[in-house]
Amino acid sequence: MIKVAKFGGSSVANAKQFRKIKKIIEADAGRRFIVSSACGKSDREDHKVTDLLYLCHAHEQYGVPCDHLWALLTQKYLGIRDELGLTVDVEGQIARIRAEVSDGASVDYLVSRGEYLTSLCLAEFLDADFIDAAEVISFDYSGQVDMEQTSRLLKARLNPGKRAVIPGFYGSMPGGLIKIMSRGGSDITGSIVANVVDADVYENWTDVPGILVADPRIVDNPPRVERLTYLELRELSYMGANVLHDEAIFPIHEKDIPINIRSTNEPDNPGTMIVRDCSAEDKKNPPHYITGISGRKDFSAITCMRSHMSTEVGVMSQALAIFEKFKVSIEAVPAGVDTFTVIAPSNALEGKIHEIVAELHKLNFDSVRVEDKIAMLAIVGRGMRQRHGISGAFFAELGMAGINIRTISQTVDELDIIIGIDNRDYEEAIRRIYNKFILTEKERHAASS
Ligand code: ASP
Repeated sequence: MIKVAKFGGSSVANAKQFRKIKKIIEADAGRRFIVSSACGKSDREDHKVTDLLYLCHAHEQYGVPCDHLWALLTQKYLGIRDELGLTVDVEGQIARIRAEVSDGASVDYLVSRGEYLTSLCLAEFLDADFIDAAEVISFDYSGQVDMEQTSRLLKARLNPGKRAVIPGFYGSMPGGLIKIMSRGGSDITGSIVANVVDADVYENWTDVPGILVADPRIVDNPPRVERLTYLELRELSYMGANVLHDEAIFPIHEKDIPINIRSTNEPDNPGTMIVRDCSAEDKKNPPHYITGISGRKDFSAITCMRSHMSTEVGVMSQALAIFEKFKVSIEAVPAGVDTFTVIAPSNALEGKIHEIVAELHKLNFDSVRVEDKIAMLAIVGRGMRQRHGISGAFFAELGMAGINIRTISQTVDELDIIIGIDNRDYEEAIRRIYNKFILTEKERHAASS
């Protein structure tokens, strides 16, 4: 069995976490390829190394003294090195990075040093080869990962009998300059490595024991989802569940590699398995028809109305083209006969909404109305397909709670039902749905007494 194990920031936050990783790696000979994030927070007061590096860059750029930030970074790595008895030259490395920054090194270079230093320490601690992502993860001129080149370079560097640690989050552009991915991008590196080495499983080690049915900040102790499909994960994470980087699915999807979300703090917990198709398992052990409840607040709804619009062709596409022109990605477009509403994240409309509305008016609508503070909420589940009564019960529950539904959408694949409600109703709606559909009769009774 070949496994790629990616460890997130909280899993490499300090020496104690490094020791947990060592146990996890040594417990399974298949865990040969390790991808690491930069050290995350050890506790509430601590700072993520990546955040510190961004801060350093902002200070250096405007010539604001930031010795205190460099000192925090140095302390962080010295703490790990000294507690684990490693030999990495932390002071020398940091001095070199500072010198490069003074010489005008890019923000991408500086920010990538978090993953670089963390992986250097981890490789020594695990007695593994260190493979610099700059030498193996290649981007093309458009900034996309060049999988062919990456595969060739990485395979050439892997040493058959030895474990390897590869820093996540960055790679190189064709001229050799370092480029970082979007935040949380180490998940993508892990997925790329899993693709290249044809892993049997891509383990993503984090600080939660898998994907939870609902947000634990809103409901108490939501259960773990045992397994779900890539498509369900896409729906859940797009709608707000924040466990894996959105783009991490693509490299493994291509090769049908399962992802296993695990917790470094609970290594015996089997976590959540994400696969292309669960049907064989589902037959043996049928899943709950709702895999998860997820959502996000702060959308805006732009409603366009024109009498007799339904008899005209192309009005909606002209309106949508305006959003495209302003590079606003649209969430949903519920439509009536002579009206339709475009729903988009409010932050994507910031600074553009007046111009967008002005352009929409040029299409001769009778009215264009903008409403903010809309939340989108989804119930997602492969088990909802061809099962009647779910949306009825869902809407009835919200109705009984006095929650007004602003928009409704479901596609014919019936993977999810998405509704729009007012922001202020969001948490209560999640709690009501969770209590009604996920809790058993017994648990409901216990919760209410
Ligand atoms: N260190 C980066 C971040 O904080 C990348 C990662 O952890 O995946 O976003």
